[in-house]
Amino acid sequence: MSTVAVVGGGIVGLATARALARSGYDVVLIEKEAALAQHQTGRNSGVVHAGLYYPPGSLKARMAAAGSASMYAYAREKGIPHDNCGKLVVACDASELPGLATLAERAAANGVPATMLTPEQARAHEPYVRCVQALHVQTTGIIDYPGVCRSLADDVVAAGGELRLGVAFEGAESVGGIPDGGGAGVGGSGGGGRAAGVRVATSAGELRVDALVACAGLYADRVAAASGFEPEARIVPFRGEYFELSPDKHYLVRGLIYPVPDPRFPFLGVHLTRMVGGGVHAGPNAVLALRREGYTWRDVDLAELRDSLAWPGLWQLAKRNVVPGAREVIRSLSRRQFAASLSRLVPGIAADDLHPAPAGVRAQALRRDGSMVEDFLVQTHGRQIHVLNAPSPAATAALEIADHVCAHVIGSLS
Ligand SMILES: Cc1cc2nc3c(=O)[nH]c(=O)nc-3n(C[C@H](O)[C@H](O)[C@H](O)COP(=O)(O)OP(=O)(O)OC[C@H]3O[C@@H](n4cnc5c(N)ncnc54)[C@H](O)[C@@H]3O)c2cc1C
Repeated sequence: MSTVAVVGGGIVGLATARALARSGYDVVLIEKEAALAQHQTGRNSGVVHAGLYYPPGSLKARMAAAGSASMYAYAREKGIPHDNCGKLVVACDASELPGLATLAERAAANGVPATMLTPEQARAHEPYVRCVQALHVQTTGIIDYPGVCRSLADDVVAAGGELRLGVAFEGAESVGGIPDGGGAGVGGSGGGGRAAGVRVATSAGELRVDALVACAGLYADRVAAASGFEPEARIVPFRGEYFELSPDKHYLVRGLIYPVPDPRFPFLGVHLTRMVGGGVHAGPNAVLALRREGYTWRDVDLAELRDSLAWPGLWQLAKRNVVPGAREVIRSLSRRQFAASLSRLVPGIAADDLHPAPAGVRAQALRRDGSMVEDFLVQTHGRQIHVLNAPSPAATAALEIADHVCAHVIGSLS
């Protein structure tokens, strides 16, 4: 039986470990934290995305649409809290109508059920929303992602896999390879030749495995670099800050209310999300995190910050997004501005109604020229498979990404 090491105990690593263990591989998952889902997966909006935003044919479009269906099915099977409540994307004035129409076209192209509504029809779903038109997306919903992770972890163990928590990946080297062209011999590290195995250095000693899968989220590029190859894009961490709406204002939001996203900006804009465990979250915004796992402005790692600032892509991106970038920083520093963005969607939300809630940090791969890696990105190097870009909607799509990665593993071992 082939042995596979999986790095990362977020939803992508866990779903991948589960798919591999259920396919008959001997799996060991290592996670540097003492508990699972401590970073992106445990700090997100808890939304099951329908797949309407993404370019038709992209992995994101296909895997969000298929992934929302498989995620709901998994939650039903395992009794995990979820609610396919639907969402409204609202155009607050006429200038946003073309953007809303584009989203409706995207939804149709991606096979996502969505209906354009008049303001009166929108208010039948969300009585307090303010809009000139809205798009109702039926298959969007909410779910308990940490609960999904606990269940995936149980599945891994039930299928004979092993979870090692508090164990950090430190480096990997492909070993014992056969060079391309078929001759016998010992291969080096990195992409050349077909390696026969991978030596993995961890904080708890060395592992010798047949294949390595890295799903390291905010450290995806670092883990790749420590495994012998430099990815063309670097992870840049963007913090998303949230507020919790006062309980006396919960009545203002029944489900999910989103703005029309600014097409120049890669994030969806601050929105209102009813959480599956109760309460209403407002956010997230998007500001540069001063540490990859930096959840407040005070959370700074100078070496990591220097690393982010030394990446030319960040400056290119900043140059192209001066206005929206500055707006995000102002909104981060001013609760009044944050409330103003929300009250465009639902009048009556004021700064006093917002209470700080834990933030999340998005791992976004950014190329040297400042362009974002838009789609999910998985690359194989010999017997190493690296998930190099898995931003939103990767939680929704985790079961599909897992099958995709599993196919890479099977290919690398055959
Ligand atoms: C603010 C925010 C809101 C979002 N909202 C949504 C949403 O509503 N719906 C949705 O579908 N997606 C959403 N996303 C995106 C989604 O959360 C991520 O795409 C998804 O969680 C990625 O999972 P992951 O397993 O790749 O990463 P992570 O959850 O970050 O897991 C990576 C793991 O790797 C571990 N690791 C890193 N380095 C090492 C190492 N050296 N050794 C061992 N372990 C290591 C980390 O500790 C971590 O546990 C959101 C993300 C954010 C940040």
